[in-house]
Amino acid sequence: MDKEKLTQLVKNLVLCSGAVAVGIATRETLEGGPPSTDLTYVLPEARSAVVFALPLDQGAIERFLKKEDMASANIDNRRVNNMASGLAFEVSEFLNMKGYKSVPLAANAVYRKDTPNGPYDEKPPLSHRYLAVRSGIGHFGKSGNVIMDKYGAAIILGSAVTEADLIPTEPLSPEDSYCDGCRLCMSACASGLMSPEEETSVTMGRETFSYSKRRSYNRCEYVCGGFTGLHQSGKWSTWSPARFPIPEKDEEFLGALIKAVPAYRSRKKVDYGLYHALVPGSLLEFTCGHCQLICHPDKQVRQERYKMLINSGVVIQDPDGTLRAVSPEEAQKHIAALNPELKSLYEE
Ligand code: SF4
Ligand code: SF4
Repeated sequence: MDKEKLTQLVKNLVLCSGAVAVGIATRETLEGGPPSTDLTYVLPEARSAVVFALPLDQGAIERFLKKEDMASANIDNRRVNNMASGLAFEVSEFLNMKGYKSVPLAANAVYRKDTPNGPYDEKPPLSHRYLAVRSGIGHFGKSGNVIMDKYGAAIILGSAVTEADLIPTEPLSPEDSYCDGCRLCMSACASGLMSPEEETSVTMGRETFSYSKRRSYNRCEYVCGGFTGLHQSGKWSTWSPARFPIPEKDEEFLGALIKAVPAYRSRKKVDYGLYHALVPGSLLEFTCGHCQLICHPDKQVRQERYKMLINSGVVIQDPDGTLRAVSPEEAQKHIAALNPELKSLYEE
């Protein structure tokens, strides 16, 4: 089929399926990028990738940040991730049926197995973020998340890789990014994943992009993964009821995480979340995501969301497993009243 027609057809398919943006990256536009931009890793004959974004439910975000409702944002996250994986499958099968060998990528939680520690290195087959920024879906925010004018960082990305020779889309102009370096993403992160001083640059197809250097990913796994959640100020937390110490140095996070596993396994869990192959007990509850959820295009909304978070209190867990936010003082009393065995599920 004519290259232009096929490209338009695929874009229409994606946009007719609920995506809010679609882009095309090619081997040429990704040339010179990091290993996670190598399309041939997933399909040796690959020439192009179709990349898209689906929006998260903005209403659920504020209830999550205020600690009023953990479930809605968790369930929405699963729903949109599953839609992204499903749409990648649909694009791929459509192109396969048209005669172009293609493969879908999972939206999340799938990793390469051929790195030194296998899946535990958490290197994805391809980086949706890199593909998305290079193909003009959005900009990198300082956080390293992909941000869009209308939806902020509250999007889920998906991709399908194909041997079809599609017409690439260009990156957005850097001046059009709404990221003003407000650093609320960093302030809202109890793990310190984003370096406040250092930046990372990535060059793909002669275009260079930058964002805050990410320190050890074990930081985010420890906090966003729900192993612990109390901010160092002691005034607010994630949705995790645990308050194991958050180390300062990258190299201390893996040990802290391993130490927190027995308590993580023993605490009562909610009945929603992501079944993640690498998580102890396999059920991952989303307890944070703050860097993504705070980052609204309107600076005032961003500031309000940050206030919601830092005034949301500290999460505790009732004996029946219910998670609820209380004042920092009340949380301390609650923990102090637990017997030693129960207390060890939440603090050292
Ligand atoms: S929270 Fe502020 S600094 Fe962080 S990515 Fe968003 S706009 Fe940029
Ligand atoms: S998800 Fe939470 S812990 Fe992870 S980087 Fe974002 S704010 Fe930090």
